[in-house]
Amino acid sequence: MKREFIQDDNEETNNMLVELLKAIPVRDLISRAIDARDMSYCPYSEYAVGAALLTKEGKTYLGCNIENAAYGPSNCAERTAFFKAVSEGERSFKAIAITGSPKGKKIDQFAFPCGVCRQVMREFCNPETFIVIVAKSETDYKVFALKELLPEGFGPENLKTGTKK
Ligand SMILES: [Zn+2]
Repeated sequence: MKREFIQDDNEETNNMLVELLKAIPVRDLISRAIDARDMSYCPYSEYAVGAALLTKEGKTYLGCNIENAAYGPSNCAERTAFFKAVSEGERSFKAIAITGSPKGKKIDQFAFPCGVCRQVMREFCNPETFIVIVAKSETDYKVFALKELLPEGFGPENLKTGTKK
């Protein structure tokens, strides 16, 4: 079965994504990311992003982008969700849903995670099985395995001292 919202035309990856998605409440996760977007603090870019991160146990952590007058200290929605979860002891994740668009406007575009956020995902997630859902709505979304968004990534296993604990 080929599903349109899956981008990879590699049959093996496609089939694996279809299997993995069966265990993910996709619509609910997107809905929560849309809600999280309402919390965005983005007075400078006026681009509001929300994320909902699903753990292996089924718990969800929300995140929004949080900007700063000095710009550099700003944080993306995806990393907000990850840092909240990791700081609460979570280490295993299944999927993240991401929504973004200019503040106060209907979500009319796909907001892909920036390179820094992709690398943070790579730290804690298996690139083969971690699912990234980029959504405009609960029914209009794209699905990727992390490895598609960050091919040949550098991760903790590359370092002798690297540990995921
Ligand atoms: Zn980012």
